[in-house]
Amino acid sequence: MDTTLRDGEQTAGVVFSNQEKIRIARMLDDIGVHQIEAGIPVMGGKEQEAVESICKLGLKASIMGWNRPVIKDIEASLACGCDAVAISISTSDIHIKNKLNTTRGAVLDMMVKATEFARERVDYISVNAEDASRSDMNYLVEFATEAKKAGADRIRYCDTIGILDPFTTYERVQTVIERAGVEVEMHTHNDFGMATANALAGVKAGARFIGVTVNGLGERAGNAALEEVVMALKHIGNINLGFKTERFVEVSEYVSRASGRMLPPWKAIVGSNMFAHESGIHADGALKNPITYEVFRPEEVGLLRQIVIGKHSGTASIKSKFREYGKELTNEQADMILKQVRALSVDMKRSLFDKELIYIYEDLFGEQSDK
Ligand code: MN
Repeated sequence: MDTTLRDGEQTAGVVFSNQEKIRIARMLDDIGVHQIEAGIPVMGGKEQEAVESICKLGLKASIMGWNRPVIKDIEASLACGCDAVAISISTSDIHIKNKLNTTRGAVLDMMVKATEFARERVDYISVNAEDASRSDMNYLVEFATEAKKAGADRIRYCDTIGILDPFTTYERVQTVIERAGVEVEMHTHNDFGMATANALAGVKAGARFIGVTVNGLGERAGNAALEEVVMALKHIGNINLGFKTERFVEVSEYVSRASGRMLPPWKAIVGSNMFAHESGIHADGALKNPITYEVFRPEEVGLLRQIVIGKHSGTASIKSKFREYGKELTNEQADMILKQVRALSVDMKRSLFDKELIYIYEDLFGEQSDK
């Protein structure tokens, strides 16, 4: 379940244009996302238009509208043509008292009424327990049980403030599933850097749905990242969802630009440094056989392997680089070049460009090397 267009856009300072939303929805559908949370129709205006346009694209993915447990919210989602609705309300006392200023009983009533209303009108319902992580377990189980009785297809377990760790997640999600007998979607936030880990822990505990966003975009530190979850399931969890992962970098770059949120080079799965090797021992290993230092092939996500020449390089990298330029170096030549590379790299405080390597060669050996 991808919520780039809802939770992702809720990131402070992020707005997508409607054209961007439509393009993102098409991309998500094409790469294999099963359900897209397209927005909050009751907001009206452009938001409503965007959800409506996405519903009309005829995508394979189910299109979900986000709602409060309020009849007019759900009517707005239905009017857009959503085949699925999310009905969201807080279940923690902290939220019930301090935000909603109401009672546990009233929260149950609102949720049940809205769910029963939706049940007669839409194919699929997710009832979202906001701040589930800080909710009293007995009440959360009661909430989930009542939601199922009212017709909910699944419960969204929201770690709204990102307070879980994988061990607590496992225990709590397992308890909800065992005691309420419901399907669960994990909705995790990255405040302590564990959004992806917690989502996977939820899957281990029996959750069959994961809410994600491209690049982990989302409120504060963001959500579990689509690309991280899919690749971790595939390579660590042995669950291949059949996504077109080779488009991950393209989708990531598009969402990065559309959201105005640049990715750090060290971003997991799609960062530009994922397959860049500089240090002598690593580069030597990766050149001999990439499986020594790479967990999957770069092409699998749309990246390229890159041997970076800089302070930490070794002679194997230098020789391989010059082989790319059509030049076979002796060990002695490679050693001499490496000394210069290290000195220049420290002076410049960065790795070196190809041109700079060629200049070093020319300075040392005094011949034109660009042939
Ligand atoms: Mn959220």
